[in-house]
Amino acid sequence: MSTSREEVLKAEAEKHIPPGYDPELYKIRHSAAHIMAQAVMERFPGARIAIGPPVEDGFYYDFELPRSPTEEDLAWIEERMREIIRGNHPFRVREVSVEEARELFKDQPYKLELIEGLARGQYDEYGNKLPEDQRPRITVYQHDTFVDLCRGPHVDHTGKIRPNAIKIMQVAGAYWRGDEKNPMLTRIYGTAWRTSKELKAYLRRLEEAKKRDHRRLGRELAIFALEPELVGPGLVLWQPNGAVIRDQLERFLKDEQLKRGYQPVYTPHIARVQLFQTSGHYPYYADSMFPPLTVDEQEEYLLKPMNCPFHILIYKQRLRSYRELPIRYAEFGTVYRFEQSGEVLGMTRVRGFTQDDAHLFCRPDQLEAEFKSVIDLTLTVFRSVGLTGFRARVGVRDPESDKYVGDDEVWEQATRAILKALDDYDFEYTVEEGEAAFYGPKLDFVVRDVLGREWQLGTVQVDYNLPRRFDLSYIGEDNRPHRPVMIHRAPFGSFERFVGILIEHFNGAFPPWLAPVQAVLIPIADRHLEYARRVAARLFEAGFRVRVDESDKRMNAKIREAQLQKIPYMLVVGDREVEGENVAVRLRTGENLGPMSVGAFEALLGEVVAARALTLSLQ
Ligand SMILES: [Zn+2]
Ligand SMILES: [Zn+2]
Repeated sequence: MSTSREEVLKAEAEKHIPPGYDPELYKIRHSAAHIMAQAVMERFPGARIAIGPPVEDGFYYDFELPRSPTEEDLAWIEERMREIIRGNHPFRVREVSVEEARELFKDQPYKLELIEGLARGQYDEYGNKLPEDQRPRITVYQHDTFVDLCRGPHVDHTGKIRPNAIKIMQVAGAYWRGDEKNPMLTRIYGTAWRTSKELKAYLRRLEEAKKRDHRRLGRELAIFALEPELVGPGLVLWQPNGAVIRDQLERFLKDEQLKRGYQPVYTPHIARVQLFQTSGHYPYYADSMFPPLTVDEQEEYLLKPMNCPFHILIYKQRLRSYRELPIRYAEFGTVYRFEQSGEVLGMTRVRGFTQDDAHLFCRPDQLEAEFKSVIDLTLTVFRSVGLTGFRARVGVRDPESDKYVGDDEVWEQATRAILKALDDYDFEYTVEEGEAAFYGPKLDFVVRDVLGREWQLGTVQVDYNLPRRFDLSYIGEDNRPHRPVMIHRAPFGSFERFVGILIEHFNGAFPPWLAPVQAVLIPIADRHLEYARRVAARLFEAGFRVRVDESDKRMNAKIREAQLQKIPYMLVVGDREVEGENVAVRLRTGENLGPMSVGAFEALLGEVVAARALTLSLQ
């Protein structure tokens, strides 16, 4: 095979890097997966290999092994991987025929199954052989002694990987092709980075993330509870502390929306199946809905999986004129989706959740202004909780597909409007072809939290489909009916997921405007209790969330308790404070502000809360 042929294959392989994945890391991880497979084959001769792709933050490879690997096996494999890497073996690619592939992998049943799948691709659906140039290509990559059925891409040679920037992470079971009727394989996870420094930073992030797990903090701080046996998996009980946080977020967003011309609406939790047949959600998305409730054996109702059809019916209550548009209906609407029970996780993957939903109905010429207003609102929301690192993704059509509804012209117009709106901001964005929904282009935000993890939040979705299905119109300046454009948007996504993310982002230490309890009065002795209650009553009266630690614990134990509860301010009161009508202010950060008058503390807390400051004092 000529080098140039190999270079062509390698260049083509680059297109298998998923959008948004760092290409260098992708190749490092994919190559590390092959290297691990070689080491595993050496440790377990006769092992059968399945597949081994890069995944977020690492890679895995699935094996059928004679026994489960021990700690010792894994340590051996990791060390052997380093040796292989130091061997500077080139990754070579070549194209093979089906027959050749079958011969190469004759002892590897999983590979043979994959090869048969590829081979079937050489025939059309009537069994006619496809012309040579339409055949899917079968390629194999080899480094050192290891050959894999693989489409690439890889690093040029193993020396491009740093031996001290790889690590085997864990072992899990996984069914072949994800199907539980198939044999259970051993999945070994690893991670690989550019440098050992990057690897160490990643391991630190993992450690920190474990400490901040919202499920643990949510329980410890009494924010939410789950009762899968009695209530059901993925259905959240908001405890009083969580309800305070959510209520503050709701009030904040409600105010911001009112300022921007939104109108609140309320709609029911259930509706007849006919509504979702009209919207097209039923039966197409029936798998992700709770099954219908049947009344009198004839009427069927569905728990709503989304709020849009209801808002559309409110729009349709009368004839609309172009002068009324845009119309913006907002609702904190609770919806239900039947996530697979294996997918349900804490507050971030649930079956019932409340979206901070709104639907905007506008004229095509208003799209850009509406997008700007939504972007502005979304940024205001992110900044209010200190999420300042974000980027945007614009999902546009795949020019080669015809699955989309709506004319080319309206798509062009909406895409242009989104890009023009984005031009006014200085954050980074990418345009991703084929990432649009079939019913319209979208804009979403990817937010980076303090641990550097990325979360997708704040999707803004244009919709050409529902206005058509519900035959929406408005009377234009020309006195003729026109179709409005609809935008779905939810800056938080859902309160459940957003609060789950915030718990981890803040490590449970919410800023004063969100903290369930803003200040706790700590009397040093029983004789200070009366005064503590009086101060608390005054602060409560002024609108703050305070409580008195009435327990008979010693002062230090009370302070420790308040710190564990991550209460921002501890107001210690003893003889001197009672006498001077003061409070001694201690912050949860350990800092002491010393004694101040109750009025001075009230002013300080008032300012911090009003500014939605992320710090505990404005000095
Ligand atoms: Zn591969
Ligand atoms: Zn919607």
